Amino acid sequence: MSNLETTDAVRASNDAVPRLRHPEKSKRADSPFQRKPSWIRLKKPEGPAFYETRRLMREQQLSTVCEEASCPNIGECWSKRHATFMIMGEICTRGCSFCNVATGRPDALDMFEPGRVAHSVKQLGLRHVVITSVDRDDLDDGGAEHMAQTIRAVRRQSPDTTIEVLTPDFRGKKGAEEIVFEARPDVFNHNLETVPHLYPSVRPGARYYTSLRLLDDAKRADPNVFTKSGVMVGLGETMEDLRQVMDDLRAAEVDFLTVGQYLQPTPKHHPVDRFVTPEDFKKIEELARTKGFLGVSASPLTRSSFHADEDFARLKKQRLSG
Ligand code: SF4
Repeated sequence: MSNLETTDAVRASNDAVPRLRHPEKSKRADSPFQRKPSWIRLKKPEGPAFYETRRLMREQQLSTVCEEASCPNIGECWSKRHATFMIMGEICTRGCSFCNVATGRPDALDMFEPGRVAHSVKQLGLRHVVITSVDRDDLDDGGAEHMAQTIRAVRRQSPDTTIEVLTPDFRGKKGAEEIVFEARPDVFNHNLETVPHLYPSVRPGARYYTSLRLLDDAKRADPNVFTKSGVMVGLGETMEDLRQVMDDLRAAEVDFLTVGQYLQPTPKHHPVDRFVTPEDFKKIEELARTKGFLGVSASPLTRSSFHADEDFARLKKQRLSG
């Protein structure tokens, strides 16, 4: 069974998590662009903030994952001036089958980009910023120094803004991850994206255990950093697969987990296996909470950086009260 419906193993398990079966509400995705289920409703841009955010990005010649990855939440996020900066260009050296970012040979790094990101964070008045990047396997350090420079530039201009980096895996390049750790982001985020057996078809250029180790290394380098990871559902995983991923993430002491519905960007991308119902998302969230994560966000439109500022505030509170 290649979906989130109950497996025998899950049914037989002793923990109190209910089975995931809502056949009357679940929809199997027969065609990539079939009508999305009623629970996937995108918010339209509201007010001038959306257009001001867009204008600033154009003026500063910056890229965002919001646009490049065709994120469904852009209307809501940009209307609140929340944008996730995507640095080091718009061309990625990997060809993940879920991702809408273009693959190819990237341009040289722009040495002025960290300063422009910092300027824009200040202009937007962000309390919390998420900075991500394309994979830069062409660079000796995978782009780690450029990311560290961006963290430092933001910190100089906006010392009260908390900084979350959503990093590539640096393909295990020696010394790369340490460069980012030393820049001391407040949140170190790296997405596993999917379950191990789907890596060859979904994330062929990556290795599950390399990603897991990166998260573990981040926590060991700085036990005070908040670590975060995310997976998409609806790619063909089972609940048992998710349970294993959660256990692996907790073994790496990851603090925060995000789980969201995969949406196929174009017909050439990995097909949607199924649309997971809100009820099943609740069960995933309950399961994650039993595993001991400090925070969990699981819903159809959850994305790594969606509501990241509020989640960070909650995480800090949780840690203080724990
Ligand atoms: S969820 Fe993240 S990537 Fe999507 S629009 Fe919001 S900030 Fe951008």
